[in-house]
Amino acid sequence: MSPQHRVVVLGAGVSGLTAAFILSKNKNYSITVAAKHMPGDYDIEYASPWAGANYLPVGKEGTPSQEYERNTWPELAKLAEEHPEAGIHFQDTLIYRREKDKGPVSEWFAELIREDAWFSKVVPNFKVLSKDELPEGMDGGTSFTSVCINTAIYLPWLVSQCLKNGVVFKRGVVKHIADATLLHHSGEKADLVVNCTGLFSLFMEGVQDKNMYPARGQIVLVRNDPGYMATTSGTDDGDDEAVYIMHRAAGGGCILGGCLQADRWDSAVDPNLAIRIMKRAIALTPELVPKGKGIEALDVIRHGVGLRPMRKGGIRTEKETVKGPDGKAIKVVHSIGHGGYGYQTSWGCAAAVAQLVDESLMERARL
Ligand code: FAD
Repeated sequence: MSPQHRVVVLGAGVSGLTAAFILSKNKNYSITVAAKHMPGDYDIEYASPWAGANYLPVGKEGTPSQEYERNTWPELAKLAEEHPEAGIHFQDTLIYRREKDKGPVSEWFAELIREDAWFSKVVPNFKVLSKDELPEGMDGGTSFTSVCINTAIYLPWLVSQCLKNGVVFKRGVVKHIADATLLHHSGEKADLVVNCTGLFSLFMEGVQDKNMYPARGQIVLVRNDPGYMATTSGTDDGDDEAVYIMHRAAGGGCILGGCLQADRWDSAVDPNLAIRIMKRAIALTPELVPKGKGIEALDVIRHGVGLRPMRKGGIRTEKETVKGPDGKAIKVVHSIGHGGYGYQTSWGCAAAVAQLVDESLMERARL
């Protein structure tokens, strides 16, 4: 039986690729992933390659983000257990809290740093740290087992899973979301577009979601390995600066971060911030370098800057009918605004997207 519906997934970041993979299991769909950037590219307009990426839940109780994070853990854990080729491994994780931290980073991590965190029953080995387990200056903390994803392996792995299921990939840049219907590989107009264009949904005609804004993240990738992941509720260097350390699977190096600089679009590495990031990482995880050594003992692979696709009001997973420039209506399902949590919400969110696509195409079939 040939597929009944043509679908274009616009965007090849973690959101678009995970959605395309889940949708490709439905043999009624013929799917094209069309995007300006694809795995292998490094560009300031493409957030996914810059992520650590790990699973540190931040979704507030009762929000879709929380549900997506809850539903994503089993999938990432299964990949770490059964599919080493996906580039995901388990890591011991330490989260520290300081009473004095107030501002964007501590707000971002408000759920993560709770000793009664909702995800204590989701991740394995969750434990509240005793006073004598806390480093100097910390007022509380937890430990658990999480995962770290080597994005340089994981994104191409997602592409390979899609290709196996018949998804076709092609480069394309659209000005208006409706133009994406013309990018289906059959040459026929697509029945539906899944909008996974991240931050650039702010500018794309037919969407122009004014709730989208960037939160700049700067990282240093090093060859050193402290043997565990760690983060805190803030730093002494400004309330939009953060410290997190995560070691990627399969030789991917160790990511030292970072910052959460709202409304900053600049792609150049700030060398002063880079020094602060490296110093803070060593202070928090001294095992990064031989005893008594400083940042000169870090073996730097590269510095990087990515823009998190933040959205006021949270992730937008929604179906909509959009009028194209020719006045004709097209069906769209949005999956945008994944902020600093695009990987840890990816499977839960993509499952919700697939459900909306099914509903939307059923509605069309009934018209
Ligand atoms: P993107 O990856 O930005 O992809 C957008 C896609 O749309 C691209 O293919 C682009 O080319 C395409 N596109 C856009 N406009 C057009 C157009 N007009 N025409 C055609 N194509 C278009 N998340 C976690 O879960 N854990 C972490 O540890 C983590 N760490 C992070 C660290 C940093 C430094 C940063 C920057 C982010 C981090 N994130 C993390 C967040 C995560 O990276 C993002 O939420 C996620 O990558 C967003 O994916 P996306 O697919 O929605 O968007």
